Amino acid sequence: MVDAAFEIVVIGGGPAGVTAALRARELGAAVALVERGNLGGTCVGDGCVPTRVLAHAARLVRDAGQFAAYGLEGGPPEVDFARLLNRTQRIVYEVQEKKQIKGRLEAAGVGVFDRAGDARFVEPYMLALEDGTSLRGEKFILCAGGHARRIPLPGGEYALTHSDIWKLEKLPRSVAVVGGAATGCQLASVFATFGARVRLLEVAPRILAAEDEVISGGVTEAFERRGIEVITGIGGIERIEEDGDGLRLAYTRAGETCLLDTEAVVLCVGWVGNLERLNLGAAGVETEGGYIKVDNSLRTSAPHVFAAGDITGRMMLVQSATYEGNLVAEKAVLGGERVYQHEIVPHGGFTDPEYASVGLTEHQARENHDCAVAVVPYSDLDRGVIDGRTEGFCKLIVSRSSRRVLGAHIVGEQAVEVVQIVATAMRANMPVEDLADVELAYPTFTSIVGIAARQIARDLGLVVVSSRYGISKGMRAAEWEQGSM
Ligand SMILES: Cc1cc2nc3c(=O)[nH]c(=O)nc-3n(C[C@H](O)[C@H](O)[C@H](O)COP(=O)(O)OP(=O)(O)OC[C@H]3O[C@@H](n4cnc5c(N)ncnc54)[C@H](O)[C@@H]3O)c2cc1C
Repeated sequence: MVDAAFEIVVIGGGPAGVTAALRARELGAAVALVERGNLGGTCVGDGCVPTRVLAHAARLVRDAGQFAAYGLEGGPPEVDFARLLNRTQRIVYEVQEKKQIKGRLEAAGVGVFDRAGDARFVEPYMLALEDGTSLRGEKFILCAGGHARRIPLPGGEYALTHSDIWKLEKLPRSVAVVGGAATGCQLASVFATFGARVRLLEVAPRILAAEDEVISGGVTEAFERRGIEVITGIGGIERIEEDGDGLRLAYTRAGETCLLDTEAVVLCVGWVGNLERLNLGAAGVETEGGYIKVDNSLRTSAPHVFAAGDITGRMMLVQSATYEGNLVAEKAVLGGERVYQHEIVPHGGFTDPEYASVGLTEHQARENHDCAVAVVPYSDLDRGVIDGRTEGFCKLIVSRSSRRVLGAHIVGEQAVEVVQIVATAMRANMPVEDLADVELAYPTFTSIVGIAARQIARDLGLVVVSSRYGISKGMRAAEWEQGSM
């Protein structure tokens, strides 16, 4: 029995699914959205929002370290982890409430089936929900996201993933974080700031291996200064065993087994698509490497089924999920050949210090471009000195021939905010001399981008300088001295 029929049925109520449903409705389709749990997805309930709350609390702890230097009274704060997690949960609810996702979807005329349990295909054009509802669709958009990967290993049941952290009763005194990509680095950073002994283990020769090498180097150095032990180039994890009150983690490195005693092990070893429950075979949808296989139009192997967001495994970020959600709805409703590209995607991690990137790494840029590169230290910023945050740098990469920015890589205070201006300049196709000319507010962290752009504009000969001008090239100027870089 069919309970309802729609032109478009969207599965998943995260950023990709909600955007897709609203856009498809905006284009006039009859749309249903199915969500197994609460609307908001990983982003609100299990990822960005709760992680950012922990990062904010860690920043408060860190900032308290400056009290004495700024003539403020007050000792270092004690971390009450249970209360912090309580606050985290309340903020998650608050964000869910504030977004009014269900209300907005319903006001737009989307049929919402939330807290419906897992949806699964029973026929190519038919979905069954756990409560027994059947939904027929002419087209489907799969936005079911993903979950943290677990590696099969003896004692793997003792390991946590980031999703288990929200339920911890107390702060572990020591934590081994396995996996040095974005999630692992962010968790390592907050646990260390809260006072835990942290070991960060990574198979690759460097943490944040997908980022420019300066980011990996800058974050590693900063982590080590904060007492985080960064262990890269491990062969793998062999086993986890109970050992008295704690755990013993065995990993290999340079062919040898190494043992590490710790209270908690957190696995941050990747992300896989939520595929199992969807019964994709019934719809003829193929998968590849744990994700749904899509082409550059976000079409799956079944002509009536599309996919967007984390479940495609392409670019796992909220901004990309919403971008794809928008595009996939247009594809499903209107058709057409517009293909998707993720070229300018500013992103970063809320570690201490933050890191952020956009565009090509220097290595990638040099493969096809003759580049000019500037690296400006945060210590050149008056704001860095004022706030006592001089750690870090901004690296800007510009094509010598087109004068367009190819990439930026930043480590330092508010890096994730600072990188947005570079992304905007890139999207506007702004030549570096125009970026150098923007009257950026003073004293700000963002103005580091202006300093780097001016340095490159001079380097490229885009600024007229008299041959009689005598200041030596390496001499650093005050940030408001536009003329003398
Ligand atoms: C710890 C962590 C921190 C992160 N921090 C950031 C950050 O700071 N910035 C950023 O941009 N990104 C961040 N991300 C990534 C971001 O959360 C995801 O890229 C984003 O949520 C993907 O959106 P989505 O809509 O594709 O999937 P999701 O948000 O995962 O939504 C998928 C939805 O589908 C539902 N679902 C799954 N299967 C079914 C089914 N069979 N039937 C019905 N419903 C189903 C799920 O319950 C879920 O609500 C973080 C991720 C993690 C894990």
